[in-house]
Amino acid sequence: MKAAELIQALSDAGRTPKQTILRSIQESGKRPVGCFPIYLPEEIIYAAGLLPVGLWGGKTSMTEVDRYIQGFCCSIMRADMELALRGAYNFLEAIVIPTYCDSMKSLLANWGIAVKTPKTLAYIIPQNRYSSGSLDFILYQNEALRTSLSEITGRPITEADLEDAFQLYEQYRAAMRRFVAMVNDYPVSLNPVNRHLVMKAAWFMDKKVYTEKLNTLMDALLKEPKETETGPRVIPTGLMVEPVKLLEAFRENHFVFVEDDLAQESRQFRTPSRTTGTVMEKLAYRLMDLRGDTFFYEENKSRGSRLIEAVKQHKADGVVVCMYKFCDPEEFDYPIYKKELEEAHVPILYLEIDPQMDSVEQLRTRIQSFAEMLNK
Ligand code: SF4
Repeated sequence: MKAAELIQALSDAGRTPKQTILRSIQESGKRPVGCFPIYLPEEIIYAAGLLPVGLWGGKTSMTEVDRYIQGFCCSIMRADMELALRGAYNFLEAIVIPTYCDSMKSLLANWGIAVKTPKTLAYIIPQNRYSSGSLDFILYQNEALRTSLSEITGRPITEADLEDAFQLYEQYRAAMRRFVAMVNDYPVSLNPVNRHLVMKAAWFMDKKVYTEKLNTLMDALLKEPKETETGPRVIPTGLMVEPVKLLEAFRENHFVFVEDDLAQESRQFRTPSRTTGTVMEKLAYRLMDLRGDTFFYEENKSRGSRLIEAVKQHKADGVVVCMYKFCDPEEFDYPIYKKELEEAHVPILYLEIDPQMDSVEQLRTRIQSFAEMLNK
């Protein structure tokens, strides 16, 4: 198959989450477990013989959720709860909800009352990873998740199961890093829309199948001549860049996403895993070692300096801030790294995004103006 067809196939998978999950269930024979944003030790779910799938909200009418969550809560949590209340997640075996922000904590408190199926597992994280008990706390959470999943499947999760899952996820993370880097040589084929959808597909597929497909795609692309693109080279930062029509505005203006600092994308796999210790320890350190991330306490916040470094490394023209409406942690971070970017003379485009918006025309105009401002 040609690279374009492989890109199209994975983009289609990323564009249609429910269909992709159902197909993955059919092909793998595994029962799906929903994973709320932002970081979960998916390897433990995979080691249990289950299929971890991402639940990142989406556009939906809000008719039920107001009984349980305030209107000023972020739209990812509101959409996820609305869908659960309407039974859209009933086909899942379980849902795992972590506690990265106040929205998630308050949602988790109400979830048990509002949503009876599927079974919900809480994954509590220590915001401060520098206290002496943090590692033990994460290890305890990981073991609790392991026990809960074993109860669901009726079989223990062995060390060998964990090791196999961890190795597979390492291959997956390596493939994702390679893919992100390839955008620089193939910015037309891997334009902002395709780039996002291909990576998004990973959330809904068996990681083994996905990793094989992604590697095949990249090998096919490497056989084709390198491409050039005329538009601005930028680094998006934030939770994610959606809806797709917003990404289309970037594509129309020939933008290249030379790297990203997005929770849904590179923040998931950019941190190298430790090579020593048990799998459970390595999984805990994947959280402990994350830097420049909104959702963890970091005394000297490194997000700004990381962005400036990435801009220099990729000769980027600017940074695009994708601010999801009412995402408190992201809003708290913004003034700090904005000041640092301004001092380093890095142009910034700030976009306030509501996934429920019907039109992106205002944002489209600002994206176009930013491209013109950068003289591209
Ligand atoms: S507040 Fe931000 S981090 Fe928390 S659930 Fe909403 S979008 Fe995600």
